[in-house]
Amino acid sequence: MNITALKGVNDILPREIAKWDYLESCAKKVFSIYGYRQIKIPVIGESRLFVRSIGEQTDIVEKEMYTFTDRGQRKIALRPEATASVVRAYLEHKLEGQDLARLFYSGPMFRGEKPQSGRNRQFYQIGVEALGCEHPQLDAEVIILALEFLNKLGLKKFSLNLNTVGCTNDKDNFAKTLKTYLKGKLDQLCPNCQNRYKRNVLRTLDCKVKSCQKVIQSAPNMIDAVCPGCSCHFDRVKSTLDSLSVCYNIMPHLVRGLDYYTKTVFEITHADLGAQNAICAGGRYDNLIKELGGTKTGAIGFAFGTERTILAAEAENIDFPKEEGASVYIIGLGQASDEKVFELAQTLRKNQISCYLNYNTSRALKKQLRQADKLKHRFVLILGEDELKSNCILLKDMDKGTQESIEIKNVVSELKNKLNK
Ligand SMILES: [Zn+2]
Ligand SMILES: [Zn+2]
Repeated sequence: MNITALKGVNDILPREIAKWDYLESCAKKVFSIYGYRQIKIPVIGESRLFVRSIGEQTDIVEKEMYTFTDRGQRKIALRPEATASVVRAYLEHKLEGQDLARLFYSGPMFRGEKPQSGRNRQFYQIGVEALGCEHPQLDAEVIILALEFLNKLGLKKFSLNLNTVGCTNDKDNFAKTLKTYLKGKLDQLCPNCQNRYKRNVLRTLDCKVKSCQKVIQSAPNMIDAVCPGCSCHFDRVKSTLDSLSVCYNIMPHLVRGLDYYTKTVFEITHADLGAQNAICAGGRYDNLIKELGGTKTGAIGFAFGTERTILAAEAENIDFPKEEGASVYIIGLGQASDEKVFELAQTLRKNQISCYLNYNTSRALKKQLRQADKLKHRFVLILGEDELKSNCILLKDMDKGTQESIEIKNVVSELKNKLNK
């Protein structure tokens, strides 16, 4: 039997964890300075939550969502994104008690897409939702927060793209305008967009197919079609960003693949990532809370793709923290050392010194030293027959390549000294 992980569903190995931890700790530091608090939402939820919020006629719901019927005949989905679940939790636990709820999350999402670089079927997101406020300054806050996270990571080659999709009314009106524009050009669109034309015409705007992009290039702009209220909101967002000297590009055809977005939408792209260059996407969703049963109030959020952000950081040679081995690798030689090394390991652990012990006292010393080097352990303690007789132990410094014999009773203090504990 040869069982491997599913396609597009990857293991994240110990040697990669330092990077993941670094990303999360940077996010936590920045988000908490802005007053965002962590929430952990379930990986599964009722299908209709995602269908209602993301939209029935979106790629995610139509083609990508993992759904199943459980033993109680309930229709369940693996979360394809987090916003819907965060809003659900916000309403269920009455988090609106505090007038503006600032929340962040991190974890796996699931979409049955074709796996490619930086895009997996189980993928990870780090994101933020600010719920209960319609003020345009909140849009600026959330956008700046996303940029601050990248600054904290040490990234430089990213850019911010911005647009407004207006309110539901504006979206409906613009859909009609766009349909009129596309009507005579349907034969130039890809089959996917011909379908979108009928069902969700705004989605044609971010089609990546060349022939479609050609048609879209001269399509009318959303920004010219929004009502005075939405236009005013967008102006305020831009002027707030300007006042803080935040650079952005206005992308008049930027729409997002989820139906719930209104007004401000944005994405952050990275110069080194090729075709799939978006590392963050977000926007306002002023109708979603009401649609899911709450009172009408505004909200905005974003999500970073964790894998792609790591790829971007690697491309920029960010100085990630290195994976560290245990402080000490203990080698016992010969059966007689068994008890003593076990006891020693426990003593070190009790003194907060991490150590590694392999229980293999018959293995050749050379092999074990090679292993200690490979796993990047800082020190090696060797207890052979001679040492055992004289109550001593050999302490090897792997960085400096030196070794000395010390009394066993002094091991803890010696190591603490060397490890600056
Ligand atoms: Zn409007
Ligand atoms: Zn297309």
